[in-house]
Amino acid sequence: MQDQIEKLLKLAKDKHNENKTFFKRLRKKPPKKLDFIMQELHDEEFERTDCLTCANCCKTTGPLFTDKDILRISKYFKIKPQKFIEMYLRIDEDNDYVLQSVPCTFLGQDNYCSIYEVRPKACKEFPHTDRKKFHQISNLTLKNVAICPAAFNIVENMKKRIQI
Ligand code: SF4
Ligand code: SF4
Repeated sequence: MQDQIEKLLKLAKDKHNENKTFFKRLRKKPPKKLDFIMQELHDEEFERTDCLTCANCCKTTGPLFTDKDILRISKYFKIKPQKFIEMYLRIDEDNDYVLQSVPCTFLGQDNYCSIYEVRPKACKEFPHTDRKKFHQISNLTLKNVAICPAAFNIVENMKKRIQI
């Protein structure tokens, strides 16, 4: 997996224009069964992928924390939400709460997440490849294929499966 992650940035860069064109066409004419196809491609890829050998998302990019996430996690730590914000978060340029630093503070040496049961919604949903109306998040996906080897493979398989 480490080998794949090291090559990912270049691979994603090489595929960027091709992916951009594909998503442009997809947005214009998404197939009727897109949600179904994405669920299948996502499930197939994550059957082969062991995130515990990777954790590249947790190491290189942090999630955004919604108010609900902050409430849930601070309750888990038995501290006040404001205290949690002061200890771990900052406000980014889009006015969202994000981690003060990456790799994520909650990531262990063994790649386990120490707050897994209460982790942010964005972590739970990453890389969003089983999201409904997937064509609507193509700009985000273009970025995620450079971070997540599973997302990269899903998009490659998507291009083979969907001829547009
Ligand atoms: S979601 Fe993607 S980047 Fe994150 S650990 Fe799994 S394979 Fe790696
Ligand atoms: S909260 Fe957990 S799942 Fe989310 S980035 Fe941190 S270590 Fe990864």
